[in-house]
Amino acid sequence: MLSVAETEKIILDLVKPFDPDIDSEILPLSQASNRILAEDIKSELDFPHWDNSSMDGYALRYADLENLQDLKLAIASGEIPAGANQLQTLAQGECMRIFTGGMLPVGADTVIMQEDTERVGAFLHFKVKPTQGEYVRRKGEFIKSGTILVAIGKKLGATEIGALASARCQYVKVYRQVKIAIISTGNELVSLENSQPLQLGQIIDSNLYALSTLVTQAGAIAIPFGTVRDDKAQLESVIRSAIAKADIVISTGGVSVGDYDYVDELLEKIGANIHVRSVAIKPGKPLTVASLTHSLNVNRSEAKILYFGVPGNPVSAMMSFWRFIRGAIAKMNGIHETYWYPQFIKAITSEDLHSQGRRETYLWGNLAYQKGNPVFQPVKNYSSGNLIGAIGTNAIAVMRVNQTYVSSGDEAIVMLI
Ligand code: AMP
Ligand code: MG
Repeated sequence: MLSVAETEKIILDLVKPFDPDIDSEILPLSQASNRILAEDIKSELDFPHWDNSSMDGYALRYADLENLQDLKLAIASGEIPAGANQLQTLAQGECMRIFTGGMLPVGADTVIMQEDTERVGAFLHFKVKPTQGEYVRRKGEFIKSGTILVAIGKKLGATEIGALASARCQYVKVYRQVKIAIISTGNELVSLENSQPLQLGQIIDSNLYALSTLVTQAGAIAIPFGTVRDDKAQLESVIRSAIAKADIVISTGGVSVGDYDYVDELLEKIGANIHVRSVAIKPGKPLTVASLTHSLNVNRSEAKILYFGVPGNPVSAMMSFWRFIRGAIAKMNGIHETYWYPQFIKAITSEDLHSQGRRETYLWGNLAYQKGNPVFQPVKNYSSGNLIGAIGTNAIAVMRVNQTYVSSGDEAIVMLI
C-alpha cells in the first residue's frame, strides 16, 4: 500500500502536459473563460496608451508652484474630458480643467484633484500643495507594447479576459479540454434514465452524475460510458472503447478484493501498466492507477492514457477525484504547477476529530468564517457510504497517518474542495 504523497507523485509523473501546438484550439475571447492559455500573448499597445489623468481636477506644471506667494494659478480656457482627441498644450503659469481619463496636456506633469481646489474668478486656489506627478498615469507605465501581457499556462479569469480585451485581442489560443471517459461498474446499478421501478438490490448509478460534475468543474469534458455489469467480456469491451476516445478514463467500482472486482485483471489483459493498487487513505483505499498507450487513440500519439479505477462508494469515488485526479487534469491541461495540488488551510475545528491513525483520513465538513477566522465543523454520523450525509459540505479535514485525535478548539488541516 502506497502513501498518499507517493501516489500523488506517481500520478503527476505519469502525466504529460498537453503540447501547445497539437492540443490547442483558437477561440473567440468571449468563449475562452476559464480556459488555459496555450501561448504567450504580447500587448501591441502601451498601457496607458497616452499620459492621462486619474482624477477629475486640474492639470498643471509642478515647477510653476515653486516660487508662488499664494498657491494659485490662472485657469486656461477649454477643458479635457475623456475621449477628447486633440492634444492640448498648457501655457506656463496656467492650469487646465481635466477629467478622469483625459489626455494630459503637453507641458503638464501633475494633476490636482478638484476637491483640493477652489475656483475664484479666473484663478484656481489650491487648498494643499500637490506632490509632483500626482494623479498622472504615464504612457506605458503599466506595460510597454511588445511585452508579455498574459503568459502561457495562465487560466483566463475575468481579470485576464478583461486585460486581453483592452489589448484588442479578439482570439486566443487555448489548450483543448481534457476528455474524460466515465464508466460505472456493478450489477446493482441502474441508469437514472431508466424509468422502471427499482428491483430489490438495485441502486441508481449516482457516481456518473457526481463525477461528471467534478470533471466539468475541473474544466474537462465528461464522456459518459454508461453502467456496465460485472461481466468480464462486457467490461473489457467498454474499457477498450473508452481508451480510444479519452485522455483519462475513470471507472467506479470493481477495484476492491471482492469476487466481482475485475478491473485490475482486465487492465493487465489489455496491456496496461498498473502503477498503484491501493493507497493508505480513508476513504478511498482501493485505487487503481494505470497507464496505457493505445494505437486507437489518435488524439495524442505519444502520450499515455491514464486509467483511474476508483471505489464504487460514492463518497470514496469523490475523494479519489479531489485528492488525485483533479491534479492530474490540471497538469495535463497545461496550467501552472501551483494548481496541480489540493489547497490546504488551517482551521479551528468546532468538534473533536478522530481517526484510527493507520491511513491518512479525510473527514467531511463545513468551513465557515467566524469573525474572519476559518472554523471547520465536521458532519455528524460520518460514513464513506453515506453521500446524503455529505450534502452541503464544502471542505474536508485531513488527519495524517498516526494522528488519531484533534481536540475541538484546536487547529486542523483542511482541504478545500
Ligand atoms: P464496489 O467498489 O464495486 O465494491 O462498490 C462499493 C459500494 O458502492 C457498493 O455499495 C456499491 O453498491 C456502491 N456503488 C458502486 N458503484 C456505484 C455507483 N455508480 N453509484 C452509486 N453507488 C455505487
Ligand atoms: Mg461493485
